[in-house]
Formats: sequence, C-alpha cells, structure tokens
Amino acid sequence: MPPYPITRAEISRSRLVGNFSRLRALAQRLSSGCDLLAVVKADAYGHGVAHCAPWLAEAGAQWLGVTSVAEGVRVRRLCPEARILVMSVLMPEDAAALLEARLTPTVWTLEHLEALARPAASESGSIPIHLELDTGMSRQGVNVDELAPILDRLRAIPALRLEGVFTHFASPEMLEVEQNARQMARFQQGVERIAAAGFHPRWVHAGNSSTLLAQRGTEALAALAKQVGATVMLRPGIALYGYALPFTPLLGMPIELEPVLAWKTAIASLRTVQAGTKIGYGGAFVASSTMRLALLPVGYADGLNRKLSNLGHVLIGGEIAPIVGRISMDLTIVDVSHVAGVATGEEVILLGEQNGQRITADDHARWAETISYEILCALGVRVPRVAAD
Ligand SMILES: *Cc1c(COP(=O)(O)O)cnc(C)c1O
Repeated sequence: MPPYPITRAEISRSRLVGNFSRLRALAQRLSSGCDLLAVVKADAYGHGVAHCAPWLAEAGAQWLGVTSVAEGVRVRRLCPEARILVMSVLMPEDAAALLEARLTPTVWTLEHLEALARPAASESGSIPIHLELDTGMSRQGVNVDELAPILDRLRAIPALRLEGVFTHFASPEMLEVEQNARQMARFQQGVERIAAAGFHPRWVHAGNSSTLLAQRGTEALAALAKQVGATVMLRPGIALYGYALPFTPLLGMPIELEPVLAWKTAIASLRTVQAGTKIGYGGAFVASSTMRLALLPVGYADGLNRKLSNLGHVLIGGEIAPIVGRISMDLTIVDVSHVAGVATGEEVILLGEQNGQRITADDHARWAETISYEILCALGVRVPRVAAD
C-alpha cells in the first residue's frame, strides 16, 4: 500500500441515504406513486460512484442515471439489480456493450434505433428503451413535430420496446419563467402523440432536483402520466449530494439537505514571515505585518479552484484561515496568525464543518464564479474518496 494521502474527501453514507429518503418522501407527498431516478453520472458528481451507487441501491433506488455507456458498465458491476438509464449520447459502437450490461438507452434519432436494432434482435425478449423529447432546450431529444418517422421506425423493430418517454427542463429553478410552462405543454403534446400512435410507455419522466424542491410542475407531470396510464418519475441529482440551485424568487427549502462530501487536509508545515514578504507565485500577496503561515498539501490539481487565490478560506481549529497568494498546482498557503496553538498535522477543512463553522461548495462556487455542481465534479482524481458514516 502506498502511503495514505492526507488530502482526502470523506463521503457520508448516512447523509446520502438521508437526502435520498427525504427526497423520496417529498416526491410521494407531491404525487403518490411518483418514482425517482437517482442521478450518479460524472462519478456521482465527484463523490465516487463506487460508494454512492451501491448505497443508493441499498436504500431503495430502483433507477440510477448515468451519462455514457462506459459509466453505465461501471455502475452495473457495482449494482447488479438496479435499472440503469444512459441519459446521454449513444454511440453506435457502444450498442453491444450497452445490451451486454443490461443498460437502458436514451434514443431520439433514427441512427440510435438502427444502432440498436440488430444487436437487440439477437437478444431474448424485447429491449426497453427511453425516448427523449426536445421541448425547448435544443440540446438532446427529438423535436415533438418530428416524432412520426421515429415512431414508424420503432413500430417496425419488435425487439425494441418503448418503456419511457422523457424531457429535460432548461430553467426549473426559475419558477416564474414562461419557458417552463411552454416546455410542459410541449411535453404533453408529444406524450399524447406517442399514446395516439399506440405506444404505452410505463414511465413518463422529467424534472431534476429543482423541479422536486420547488414543488412546481409535479402535479402536471403526474396528471399527464395518469392520462396515458404511465407512472411519473423525477430525476434528482445534485440534491442527493446535499446541494440545490437557489430558487428565484426565493422559496424556503421544503426539506433539509446535508452536504455528503467533506474535503479535508492537514497542515504540512508552518513559518513566520516579516512585513513586506512576498508570498507564492508572482508575489501576489505581500505580508502587511509579521504573519504566521501554514502550508497545505492541496492545490488546483486536486480541484481547489485557482480563483480562490487571495479570496477563499479554510477552517483550522474552528477559525477561518484566509488563503494568501496564488494557489499552486499542489500547494496552498493560508494565514493562521490569529489561530491559537496551530501545529503541523492539524486538521484543515476545505469543505465541511468544524466547531460550528461551515464551508460549502456554494461558498467555493461564489468565490470561483461558478455553480456547486462544477466545484464537486472538479475534485481531482488523486483525492481519495473515503467512506464515512
Ligand atoms: C444531470 C441530469 C439530471 C439531474 O439534474 P440535477 O440538477 O443535478 O438534479 C436530471 N436529468 C438529466 C437528463 C440530467 O442530465
């Protein structure tokens, strides 16, 4: 075993399972019988799919969502029983691996159907597929007005069975934007056309964490599902990991979410510098007085965004320790002049809680001018994800 890296991410099982359970209860409250698909794409938003996918499956997640066939194959090895939806692009050369791993593809073009037709024909029984409708995001999915040729082709491939129809909303956290209503109306039109063409999907799904937490649009989805004899499903991702985009206008959160990931390191060494000393690359910070500085073995190669240079802070001994100078690839310097009794080896919190203080991925996102999703996904590959209670 190589020495254990001191910079690590602790992934809390009880928090992940707690968030999932509260989201499931909320979904049930909004619409009884509503199913959830737990999104574990991008290595479970940087948390480590090897921990998160089995924990979610054991907590009762029937469906898991991934981006690619490669991600799906990995999740299949971890979760032999779960249904796994590949939500993004299906490359024709991946079709055989998809079927072998019993993954469920998303389709929206004739090319997708052709890529699946031949390998599906040699399978026993029919292969379930989910059809994505583009209702206004213009990213993935078939335009509702161009459904006919897809449905005609699908009817001619008995080895493929339309099990789900779904769409994705562009701005579910923006409660009052007209686009949400327009997308929902478009989705309704598409689902009705599919039903009128004689298809009976078991699931109709749309909506992410924001849709569920904002408690908007879920009744319309449930009513649509009922109309065509299907079950409604929502697809939360970021909320499982304890985060959400702020709603506009601000609404209270209907449930409590707890951040699943704590990012920790330790003080590698300490030094005292005199006033006027330049610190780090480019001398981007100059000591204004005698200062006590701690060196941390973490840098932008670990995912600590360089925009936090001279701006962000960490927690040491329950105190805020500001980042001084530029963050380097592997090292960061913080000011501990005001922290009593600091010593080499002392725990440092980059994300998480210490003595009632807390730093979240939303704080990092504000400093780095991005969103919590990117902060979490950017956590580097050399930071081990360690299972924690
Ligand atoms: C990523 C993704 C989600 C989850 O979105 P969150 O905002 O993380 O809840 C849902 N559906 C699709 C299609 C996605 O790609």
